[in-house]
Amino acid sequence: MLGIAATAATGLAAATNLPTVALFTTGGTIQSAGAHRQKLSEYSDGRVSPDQLLADLPELKDLANLQVTEIGNAGSGTVTTETLLRLAKGINTALASTNIAGAVVTHGTGTLEETAYFLHLVVRSAKPVVVVGAMRPWSAISRDGPLNLYNSVRTVLTPEASGKGVMVLLDDTVHSARFVTKGNTTRVETFVSREVGPIGYADADRVVFYRQPLTRHTLRSEFDVASLTNLPPVDVVYGHQEASAAPVQALVEAKVAGIVYADGSPAVTKALQAAMAQGVSVVQSDRKGSGRVLQSERQFGRGVVTGDSLNPQKARILLRLALTRTREVRELQRIFNEY
Ligand code: ASP
Repeated sequence: MLGIAATAATGLAAATNLPTVALFTTGGTIQSAGAHRQKLSEYSDGRVSPDQLLADLPELKDLANLQVTEIGNAGSGTVTTETLLRLAKGINTALASTNIAGAVVTHGTGTLEETAYFLHLVVRSAKPVVVVGAMRPWSAISRDGPLNLYNSVRTVLTPEASGKGVMVLLDDTVHSARFVTKGNTTRVETFVSREVGPIGYADADRVVFYRQPLTRHTLRSEFDVASLTNLPPVDVVYGHQEASAAPVQALVEAKVAGIVYADGSPAVTKALQAAMAQGVSVVQSDRKGSGRVLQSERQFGRGVVTGDSLNPQKARILLRLALTRTREVRELQRIFNEY
């Protein structure tokens, strides 16, 4: 044993010879407990507190002192703008301190990629930030949460992890927040970076990196949450054959600032045209799950911004931040080309 981990929650003394990692907890399956070990679905019988996470993973004490901030403890479907801003500001404050090596965030996997991409765009530090979740509850037979959490701290403490922006770690695999998506409803290998692949692996001998994201992020990002208390409302419209105009019309009536649409129909196209005439910003994404929406003179001429390879839920995150700076179509397109 190299030392004793200190947590704000437990108040244990810090081991001075170890680095300190800021742990932010938000909940999700990684902090869920079923009534018994075989319960692998509908396991929300109890929540696992940050104290329990650490007490149940004593090996972390050999790696680092953990400075814990509990942001929340619920499923990731409950994450709000307020949660995102509080989390981002908390991470920025922690990473500004010279004695913090990096940050780990526990999160439900359902919307994990949205929070991770948001942080990728607004964290103001080159220090590593890893967002971690689990596909099996903390209480399950063969649970994946403890190893994912352990590997996340290992990743943060790996010198090569610096400057790579926000990362996502499950199943021994390190992904860039820009490219990762949850690709399967149940499997532990659910997170994938389609087309570009993961950036590294948390292997038994060491954490290795083979790639890094080249799109703008963290220190090279123009977005700043310091003075923000809210973000412009943006919703997603999902297209299909004979998709009606009703969702777009309802969103315009609800006074959204932006709409991201993933495929359309003639009725949707017409409704979006009317929405833009009323000042709503529109981004074209796609429902296919991989590939770029190509930049298009025709779409640009209509006032539509194309979303590159961002899926709709991540295009929504970028549009919300972009709308804190500009509503101008050319500027919005530049932002979608660069991030
Ligand atoms: N329902 C959970 C959530 O997104 C799923 C998970 O964490 O795996 O919070």
